[in-house]
Amino acid sequence: MTRSGLQDTIAAIATAPGSAGVGIVRVSGPAALEIADRAFRGRRAPSRTRGGRFLFGQLVAEGGELLDEGLCLVFRAPRSYTGEDVAELQTHGSPAVLARVLARVLELGARPARPGEFTLRAYLSGRLDLAQAEAVLNLVNAGSEAARRQGALGLSGELGARIAGVAADVTRTLAAIQAMLDYPEEGVPDEDRAEPLARARAGLKTLLDTARAGQAATRGARLALIGRPNAGKSSLLNALLGYERSIVTPIPGTTRDYLEAGVELAGVPVTLVDTAGLRETADPVEAAGVRQAAALAQQADLVLVLEDGHAPREALPGEVPQGARVIRLRTKADLGAAWEDPEALAVSAVTGAGLPELREAVRAALIGDAARGEAWLTTERQADAARRALTHLELATGLPDDLAGYELEAALHALAELSGRDVQEDVVDAVFRNFCVGK
Ligand code: GDP
Ligand code: ZN
Repeated sequence: MTRSGLQDTIAAIATAPGSAGVGIVRVSGPAALEIADRAFRGRRAPSRTRGGRFLFGQLVAEGGELLDEGLCLVFRAPRSYTGEDVAELQTHGSPAVLARVLARVLELGARPARPGEFTLRAYLSGRLDLAQAEAVLNLVNAGSEAARRQGALGLSGELGARIAGVAADVTRTLAAIQAMLDYPEEGVPDEDRAEPLARARAGLKTLLDTARAGQAATRGARLALIGRPNAGKSSLLNALLGYERSIVTPIPGTTRDYLEAGVELAGVPVTLVDTAGLRETADPVEAAGVRQAAALAQQADLVLVLEDGHAPREALPGEVPQGARVIRLRTKADLGAAWEDPEALAVSAVTGAGLPELREAVRAALIGDAARGEAWLTTERQADAARRALTHLELATGLPDDLAGYELEAALHALAELSGRDVQEDVVDAVFRNFCVGK
């Protein structure tokens, strides 16, 4: 996607595929209202209508054939979503109607919008920064309440304000250092430099700590349940879901395939993966399942390792992936404890004992201390820029003034990238590739 081509007028169906009561074809660009004049027949021409108004009328083909009745919403540059002239044609929401209306608009000179191109234009016209565009993406794709909340907070500029607060402290430090270098004889009190820098570091650190939570909230997290056959994986999965999803049987090795189920835990969309039991086996089908379990655990954000608390403890035959975040569980607590381990949380799928503690441990592992009402970093792009900015601030802390200045400038640059005011075109492209057409 390029920044050129803003003179084009673009169009797309903005509503979801399939039938609905209402559908919208959105047209944006310099010719949007003229195109609407010819596709739409109302009491007044869209191009002669003030922004923020709507017209009732008919959508018509070239020869005047009626396509549908509907509304035309008129937005004028710069007061529109894209910052350009926009016409939104609201029709009945069948795929057939929308396809004809879109074809009509394209015939009149618009070209099909690429994924995210409306939002890209909002970004290029300065109506949204890149972090806000990412927030729009979070809202469009929100699969959970946490993702929706983060989208709304990001779009409202809450995230931008947190970043700006850090940047202001870095700028303050830089100004104090500059004054020191320019007028060394006057002297700048140490707290004028050290304090804002320490505050910036702390603020950025807190923000960076939200990145794991933000990504879990928006992308969801994968939790793998691993353990020997009969450890109680399927039963625990069912207990967490609250309904029978996995087949629970007393015969070891039943879960040869793996089962996935989506559930919201601690406000985060979580996919629970019930893996085949880990055990040494000669059965080739089961052996494949065991290998698959190890691979699934490897890909998981969090691994629940289950061990049967009602049987003598045995070493896990399979590997718990290196570096994986793990919660250890002693299962079947209702039957008593055949062994104890302070590291292992006792749970019972039958009585539900220990499940609130388990949910809390999952929450802590996925969300950490990130507060619910705060704006979080939600994408890897944001986390990466924040990490780089923090590194520069940490480097600056130990350096003499003249060298510290360079690090602080580099930190400011990374912060500008974080809010998306100063980014390379390929980074922008990568963000907008994740959008759907029509947004
Ligand atoms: P998996 O092979 O690890 O998936 O284990 P299952 O969930 O299929 O459970 C194996 C056996 O242990 C079944 O007979 C379950 O009913 C039993 N079981 C699982 N969890 C509990 C529990 O919390 N309490 C009791 N009493 N039995 C359990
Ligand atoms: Zn099972």
